[in-house]
Amino acid sequence: MNDKKTPTLLIKNARIVTPDGTLENVALVIKGSRIVSVVDKSHDAGTKIDDPSTSMREIDLRGATLLPGFVDLHIHGAVGVDVVSADAEGLSKVAKYLAGQGTTTWLPTFVPARDEEYESAIRAIDEVMTRQAEDANNSHQAAFGARVAGVHYEGPFVNREMRGALRSVYFKDYTDARDVDFMRKLRSSNAVHFTTIAPEIPNGIELTKELIRRGFIISIGHTRADVATLDEACAAGARHVTHLYNAMTGLHHRAPGVVGWALTKPEMTCEVIADLLHVDEFALQIALKCKGVERMVLVSDAVAPTGLGDGEYEFWDETIKVINGKTENERGGLAGSVITILDAVRVMLKLDVPLVDVARMAATNPARVLGIDAETGSIETGKRADLVAVDDAGNVRMTLVGGRVAFEV
Ligand SMILES: [Zn+2]
Repeated sequence: MNDKKTPTLLIKNARIVTPDGTLENVALVIKGSRIVSVVDKSHDAGTKIDDPSTSMREIDLRGATLLPGFVDLHIHGAVGVDVVSADAEGLSKVAKYLAGQGTTTWLPTFVPARDEEYESAIRAIDEVMTRQAEDANNSHQAAFGARVAGVHYEGPFVNREMRGALRSVYFKDYTDARDVDFMRKLRSSNAVHFTTIAPEIPNGIELTKELIRRGFIISIGHTRADVATLDEACAAGARHVTHLYNAMTGLHHRAPGVVGWALTKPEMTCEVIADLLHVDEFALQIALKCKGVERMVLVSDAVAPTGLGDGEYEFWDETIKVINGKTENERGGLAGSVITILDAVRVMLKLDVPLVDVARMAATNPARVLGIDAETGSIETGKRADLVAVDDAGNVRMTLVGGRVAFEV
């Protein structure tokens, strides 16, 4: 790489949330796509980048708090786009919208669909990931938007009785390895392959093992599995729980259900939709107390109308209303949320969860669940500069993706 052309950013005067706590008096130096130093301002940060051959920009973030960019591992769409029926342009639209909301990495999440839909949606993700990779090599271009990390298949191997808003007409049974051939792998060797399954479906444990063999991260959801089956799934390698509390058996004192198991099984991380509609605030507090901050992940489960306001929308083969920010499908059920991780962050802060812990749940932990934590998810030297600056009112002032400005007020 020609170092002379590497753009350098110096971020000054921000409060910075690092894994070790919030630092008040530091500057951040970003070279190309990476954070190269977190400098105590009592030393002269300028000496580190005093190189006339670099194109240097200073950003003064006085009054703002700099957090690791959010990582959303469960999101179906936004701004009118549903990812399972989207082309590359549609995905790009979502990526740009998310960057404006402080999300820097996302995992497009497919509801069960026809094989042809899966096929073309995977092609669209391939195309976007290729563009992103090319974009990252051309450091003078504007950032693309939030990075697409791979794919999340929510179903089709889930329990019909726990369908939630999913279209059960596209659910599948599993008999042997050929039955998962439709779950095509993405081209990029860095792509994350993730799927939500119910381990109690016939041959569900064999399914878990086969998908792990194929490189999938397994999450348990849309399920009413008993504890023995859940333990078997965990032993086979499942380590994550899809939207804890929703579309699973609840906690009863004589029947702990999937919720009781997930809350007490130390191996499992749990994602929650912290919109206060899918989960009550006390249930959020209980989950946090049981799992501890390291095992909690904030997700949006956002759907196509996100960012468009209340109204009636046609997707997933039905009319879905959004009324006062609450989705409702034709059966009167919730159909995902219209929040972003930023909204979930605000909810957790309102519950008096410390900012450092909220940053873990919104960025560090989901990055770890996806196995991309060496690259992103925290503000540390050597990591990709995926960052969001939030002002005191909780609004996004600037988002950087890979060291480049993807959103700026
Ligand atoms: Zn979902």
